[in-house]
Amino acid sequence: CGIVGYIGDKEVTSVLIEGLSRLEYRGYDSAGIAVYDNKDIHVRKYKGRLSVLADHLKEETLTGVVGIGHTRWATHGEPSDRNAHPHTNVAGNIAVIHNGIIENYMKIKEWLMEEKGIEFKSDTDTEVIAHLVDHFYEGDLLDAVYKAIRKMEGAYAIGVICKDEPDKIVAVRKDSPLIVGLGKGENFIASDIPALLKYTREMYLVENDEVVLLTKDDVKIFNELGQQMDREIFHVTWDA
Ligand code: GLU
Repeated sequence: CGIVGYIGDKEVTSVLIEGLSRLEYRGYDSAGIAVYDNKDIHVRKYKGRLSVLADHLKEETLTGVVGIGHTRWATHGEPSDRNAHPHTNVAGNIAVIHNGIIENYMKIKEWLMEEKGIEFKSDTDTEVIAHLVDHFYEGDLLDAVYKAIRKMEGAYAIGVICKDEPDKIVAVRKDSPLIVGLGKGENFIASDIPALLKYTREMYLVENDEVVLLTKDDVKIFNELGQQMDREIFHVTWDA
């Protein structure tokens, strides 16, 4: 239901929690984050309010400067810790957040289970994305995400991070909202503008079927054919 992602120099956990709190008005049943730190991706996700996640993070904090966060409104799989996002592949080196529905997830899931012997960790439609990206991954996250989305039908905004390329976030918008926030030496994604207003008023409005590659110093937007798109900066003048 809500998406936030950050890459820069700030302590990522607080940016993600702050951003997600601005999206609480949308309603949700679970919340989670994935943070890259110390050569690994660490995931914390819980059923319940954002405060449940925040309380766990107080006890066992996650530090890092790259991460993705999600508030979930369950469509496939009951609200539970295991169904909360982010979702990961088997090796745990790829983490995905997703708003929307993957209509053909059952077909993909059956293929992943039967042909690749993958054991699923959740009942969500979302988890297939992590395994699909893994399946296509050959050292280039952007390329793997492109190949994965060609297999996915439905509505989605997704954010993906990979332990082997910790200097980037890849995001996709297809019939589900996604924006980019622009900073100095830092960049953001979110499902809605209020999530980012504490940090920046300069945004890129991502269009349908576009794929975004974020590093801390650069944002590139591509269309579904992989052609780079020009985008005007959108200045937000209002307050949330
Ligand atoms: N379909 C996904 C799920 O049920 C995402 C729901 C959402 O948009 O929060 O986990």
